[in-house]
Formats: sequence, structure tokens, C-alpha cells
Amino acid sequence: MIAPDLQTAIARLRDLIETSETIVPFTGAGISTECGIPDFRSPGGIWTKMAPIPFDAFLASPQARDESWRRRFAMQDQFGDARPGRGHRALATLFRTGKSPGVVTQNIDNLHQMSGIPGECVVELHGNTTYAQCLDCAKRYELDWVRKAFDGAGGRAPECPDCLGYIKTATISFGQSMPQREMDRAQELTLGCDLFVVVGSSLVVWPAAGFPLMAKRNGARLAILNREATEFDDIADLVVRQDIGTVLAPFIEGG
Ligand SMILES: [Zn+2]
Repeated sequence: MIAPDLQTAIARLRDLIETSETIVPFTGAGISTECGIPDFRSPGGIWTKMAPIPFDAFLASPQARDESWRRRFAMQDQFGDARPGRGHRALATLFRTGKSPGVVTQNIDNLHQMSGIPGECVVELHGNTTYAQCLDCAKRYELDWVRKAFDGAGGRAPECPDCLGYIKTATISFGQSMPQREMDRAQELTLGCDLFVVVGSSLVVWPAAGFPLMAKRNGARLAILNREATEFDDIADLVVRQDIGTVLAPFIEGG
């Protein structure tokens, strides 16, 4: 059912939430656009103008590593102050009620954690761009540290002082294998829920597309909140194509 208007969308979503025991939200870029973080993959998005740096290029070329960090710090200057939006706050409210054991996200912006959901309950399929890691010894580095080293070396990507490994944001780049632990946890959550709610994902990027189908086949109900149509709208119990923040605002505690 495609909700014909905002009121119907909110009423149907409320009904689905109230009649479910375990709810798993699955979020994509659309939940963060109202926070000022653009959807890089969307038409006109950064990635349609500037190709992302694939993982093998990052490993092979010092210039690619320098460029990767240069872009990351440019992004920090533009979006570094982003705060959770209404969608994040509504999902944090849902988490606090105990009905939602965790959130699965394609986003790398840390905004679910900033909205109050503990990090261990946020399953990040594409990693996290708000800190960095050594690719060899997995030591964590904060961005401030990387930036100081980067600027101090005249715009050169730093190496791990402990093992000389390459330091990269803790994201999953194109061509980098999916994190197995996160994939397992996402599957576990998906199979444990009776309501799966897609929020702001067009479900085109693998492995995102697999989860709604997995939930549905397992007997869960499926709600899809996304501005554009998705190829799973036909099997969804509710499809909402309204503005995400506006639809979810009534679900914020005290809001
Ligand atoms: Zn290291």
C-alpha cells in the first residue's frame, strides 16, 4: 500500500509499530540529507562528478591515499558539524522503548550514535568515516590526529607509527570486502524482527537489497520510507514517499 498522504502515512506507520514486537530499522542516505549530508550517489551528488577512490587504488598509490585524505578533510569542513535529524531522533526514541534491538545502516556519518543509540547497537554495513584505522594492525586513529600528521607532512597521508601500515577512514570502500561481523549481525537482526522499516534507502546497492527480502520471506512486515520508488515497493506492507523527517517527527519522544 502506497500511503496517499502524510496523515495516512503516519497513522499506518503508527499502527505497524504498535502491533509489532521487534522492529529493525534499515537506514540509508535519505535519513541524513536533512542534516546537510548529501546523498553522494544521487543524481548531481558528489560521486556523479568525482569518482570515488576504489580500495585497490588506495592500496597501490600514495597519490590516491593523499587524495583520499584531502577529500575527507574537505568533507569535514563542509559536513563535520552535522547533527542528528528528526529521523535519527525518532529511531532513537524507538530504541529506548525497547522495541528495537538495533539499527542497520548504510550510512557512515555516526549520526545514529550521536542520537543516543549505543554504538554496539548500530550495525554499520559501510563502516564509519568519523574515525580512522590502520589497515594492518587495526589501531584506531582519531581524525584530528590524522589531520595534524597530514598537514604537518604537507598534505601527505600518514602511515601507522606502530607498524607503518596505511591509515584509512574506517569505511568500506568500493572494492573492499564487506565486514563479515556486521553482515552477520544485520542478518541476525533481520531474521529476528517482525517489522522491518527501510528509511531513506533506495535499496539498490548490494547488500542492502537482500535484507528487506530476507525479512519479508521470514514473515516480517515491511515498511519502506523513501522519496523514490524502490523495486521492493510491491511486496511492502506500507510505502511512504513523503519527506522522511516530516513522517518520523511525530515519533520523537515528546515531539
Ligand atoms: Zn598499524
